[in-house]
Amino acid sequence: MTLNELSITQASVGLQKKEFSSVELTEVYLDRIKKTDDKIKSFITVTEDLALSQAKEADKKIKAGENNNTLLGIPCSIKDIINTKGILTTAASNILKNYIPAYDATLISKLKKEGMVMLGKVNCDAFAHGASTENSDFFTTHNPWDLQRVPGGSSGGSASSVSADQCIYSIGTDTGGSIRQPAAFCGLVGLKPTYGRVSRFGLISMTSSTDCPSIMAKNVTDVAIVLEKIAGIDKKDSTISGNKIDSYQELLKNENIKGLKIGIPSEYFIDELDSDIKKAVENAIEKIKSLGAEIIEISLPHTKYAVPTYYIITPCEVSSNLARFDGIKYGHSETQSSKLLDVYIKSRGKGFGSEAKRRIMLGTYALSSGYYDAYYLKAQKVRALIIKDFKDAFENVDLIISPTTPNVAFKIGEHSGNPLEMYMEDIFLSAISLAGLPAVSIPCGFVKPNDGEKEMPIGMQIIGKAFDEKTVLRLANVYEKNTKWHKYSVSSI
Ligand code: GLN
Repeated sequence: MTLNELSITQASVGLQKKEFSSVELTEVYLDRIKKTDDKIKSFITVTEDLALSQAKEADKKIKAGENNNTLLGIPCSIKDIINTKGILTTAASNILKNYIPAYDATLISKLKKEGMVMLGKVNCDAFAHGASTENSDFFTTHNPWDLQRVPGGSSGGSASSVSADQCIYSIGTDTGGSIRQPAAFCGLVGLKPTYGRVSRFGLISMTSSTDCPSIMAKNVTDVAIVLEKIAGIDKKDSTISGNKIDSYQELLKNENIKGLKIGIPSEYFIDELDSDIKKAVENAIEKIKSLGAEIIEISLPHTKYAVPTYYIITPCEVSSNLARFDGIKYGHSETQSSKLLDVYIKSRGKGFGSEAKRRIMLGTYALSSGYYDAYYLKAQKVRALIIKDFKDAFENVDLIISPTTPNVAFKIGEHSGNPLEMYMEDIFLSAISLAGLPAVSIPCGFVKPNDGEKEMPIGMQIIGKAFDEKTVLRLANVYEKNTKWHKYSVSSI
């Protein structure tokens, strides 16, 4: 195994045993980025100097005997929608293409305290609107498993950078599926924690009522390690919960799933689901049953309303959140005009891409007087029903399992001309976001798509009760320990 293929735990053990230094480890990753990123296009900004100086700091600490911190000296990538002090943060949008934040997001401050090594900022759909990275205003990221395909989105650069061994883990965001779907498309573990588990302070806001900083890595243990470090109370986020998260060792301690009740919702095994994915998830459920869990059929009757509800609420919140980009306070500015209104119109007209504009228009319309009741209010009422579906189901089960996506990674360009098709990619993801629940996508198989030569990874979604990441990770960990899917990696790029 080369240094590029290490997990967090393996790299941390190697660092502590002085088998290699953090500087050496970091150089290996920087080199890999140099050699592969012209094809994959994960990174908007590579922070080489910063990474090497953080690695030097980490080496000093390790030399001084610091050994209680698994993330110390471990190289990662960060989605470019998360503010990093003094480092270009673009949200993959032209309107912010020169924006350098004056502060760090809370999760970045926390990771810095842990001795992070940040290799750079990775691509995403602009403002995290999308499911493929094709909505990035800069370039499309490629799926390392098959370069003709999308890595998923919006956290596509997070997924491609981890699966192409350009970094060990990545932090992205999941507002309506943006960690789980790219994790599934790239054969990774992607955890969206409960809404309110990890501070949103310092994210460039998309849908404030569902935005969740989220984690992508190569295995369940790594995801649990990072969760422990970034979770928790923050005075700067009033929606954060005081519920304490366990240590990762505690989160993964119980390796027995006997008697765990798993709900299988019929609404997630529908005609739109690719038959090979259906088979793979059914096999995974059989495996879980053979490991001692009890499988129970359940119903989440309002599931079919989740995508339409999400795509009313999200544009409404987006239209409000993007109002701050006016050409005066932030980013791209068209100041030639003497009239203030012209500055707004021209700056926004030039700075926003078409998906941001679509969402601003839809959201403004749905919130406007006369339409508010028919769209926004109605959507919030349906959201309450979706939340109740989960509440009722969790009276009888501990976890719910579904496929993560209806298909494997699609080809670049396949859906980019049709926003509705792109929105339907979220079919198994939106309800969980609207309900604010924790969910992980883990690898559960491979399939060769009809339109391709290469086997593509498949993801299974495990959904838990609010703030019960522990049970979600427990099942994910046990499944992973008893299967081989996470062991495959992209062989040659
Ligand atoms: N595909 C969803 C959207 O476009 C997901 C976005 C996200 O989670 N950031 O809104």
